[in-house]
Amino acid sequence: MQNQRENLLKTTQKLTELGLNTGTAGNCSVRSEGDFLITPSGMGVEEMTPASMVKMQCDGSYEQDKIPSSEWRFHRDILASRPEINAVVHTHSMFATTLACLHQDIPPFHYMIAVVGGDSIRCAPYALFGSQTLSDNALQALIERKACLLANHGMIALGRDLDDALAVTVEVETLCEQYWRILQLDPNPPLLSEAEMREVFKQFKGYGQWAK
Ligand code: 13P
Ligand code: ZN
Repeated sequence: MQNQRENLLKTTQKLTELGLNTGTAGNCSVRSEGDFLITPSGMGVEEMTPASMVKMQCDGSYEQDKIPSSEWRFHRDILASRPEINAVVHTHSMFATTLACLHQDIPPFHYMIAVVGGDSIRCAPYALFGSQTLSDNALQALIERKACLLANHGMIALGRDLDDALAVTVEVETLCEQYWRILQLDPNPPLLSEAEMREVFKQFKGYGQWAK
């Protein structure tokens, strides 16, 4: 578990280094021994140590003398309902948040949208940060997906481990920046068809490290 505390801290530090989170925005979690570890609430990354990470149970109980992220509900609910997912990253990164503030789903404007597991990135309806409604809305938007936007808030990315969740976060932010730039030039850009996206999914099965 010590190793997981260190990995969770490294992922949190990396998000700040990459400019994907600033101040105390965002949070991360990782499945651990049947429960999960989550970043502390309202703490700047420079203050965090491996010991700051909070061990939580699925019933919402947690380690004494620590305060878990206010978003523990969606971290818990995602890990409980998605056995293939072991890590969750939440950011207020610039371009994902910009589009989330427009309540925009991201359509298949680029083939790399397939990285999230489907042909769109959905935007979950607005709900108060830390609320069960926010978690319920996020879970709906994440059906058959590894990422979603949160209206007037930010994004969530999922992974089979922390490195994968970080890679999905970076890809979603890149796609959101590209889509935002495209929208400046054309509010209705050409999109890939369902048949073209089906071909992309097939092609990915034989691509890169998946082809081994
Ligand atoms: P925490 O510091 O409680 O994790 O909150 C940050 C955040 O992004 C809330 O949505
Ligand atoms: Zn947030």
